[in-house]
Amino acid sequence: MQHDELWIGTMLEGKARWVAVRTTDTVEEARRRHGMSPVATAALGRLMTGTLILASSLKGEESITLRLLGDGPLEGVVAVGNAQGEVRGYVQEPLVELPLKESGKLDVGSAVGLGELAVSRSLQNGEVYTGMVPMVSGEIAEDLVHYLLTSEQIPSAMLLGVRVEKDCHVDGAAGFLIQPLPGATEGDIQAIESQLGQLRVGISELVAQSQSMDELLDHLLGQLPYHVLERRKVGFSCTCSKARLTDTLVSLGKKELADLISDGKAEMVCHFCNEHYSFNVEELQQIWERGMV
Ligand SMILES: [Zn+2]
Repeated sequence: MQHDELWIGTMLEGKARWVAVRTTDTVEEARRRHGMSPVATAALGRLMTGTLILASSLKGEESITLRLLGDGPLEGVVAVGNAQGEVRGYVQEPLVELPLKESGKLDVGSAVGLGELAVSRSLQNGEVYTGMVPMVSGEIAEDLVHYLLTSEQIPSAMLLGVRVEKDCHVDGAAGFLIQPLPGATEGDIQAIESQLGQLRVGISELVAQSQSMDELLDHLLGQLPYHVLERRKVGFSCTCSKARLTDTLVSLGKKELADLISDGKAEMVCHFCNEHYSFNVEELQQIWERGMV
């Protein structure tokens, strides 16, 4: 497959909606930017993928922030996505390593731990609504399904997967959400459950094997017919800039700025994308003067 995409569609004659997304390149970029360990990559990759799925129903300038405030060694995982298919994020402790689970899989649940999942939606008018639910496993897909059911009363099934190779690079990342719509019968729901239940390998494996989104959907949905309504590109993208970090420096106050000026330079790092911005003494002087106004 050439690039990351998100597809939205229906199935069972319009009685269920689904969202499928390939995020292999998006998660690999996050791994590279933050220099993350495999388990940190899997945790952030799953959360960024789930964030893109939830963000796909937003409009215009709206955005959504998901925070996993677990008691595991990652000490928090954050992702922000918007309606344009852009996502960014970070883990508090990117170098965490844990033994693999007995199944040979990365132990994301132990790395994240248990605690609260906070979901904040920023609307077009600038209002922010935050919902908090307890996490159920720290494995992320289950936590998001629990959030959708308890906070939004929407029953869903979700798959999120990230496959990290021995050399640490990401060779498959993807997500899939399916929700029954009004009119879906018990039989329809069973058909979906039995199809997803018979998948032999995880979604990250399936996306790594697929040459296209069609092929991924065929792997996921087997013989069940589906209809595609929309296709979008998605990717890692941050909103930081030197101008934004200048505002942060101004907000530090005069004393801190004076200290930086006497150091002769300052370096600011964006949490979300790990981009470094340097300010020389002349720039700091100008910022100090701005702070005086
Ligand atoms: Zn940034």
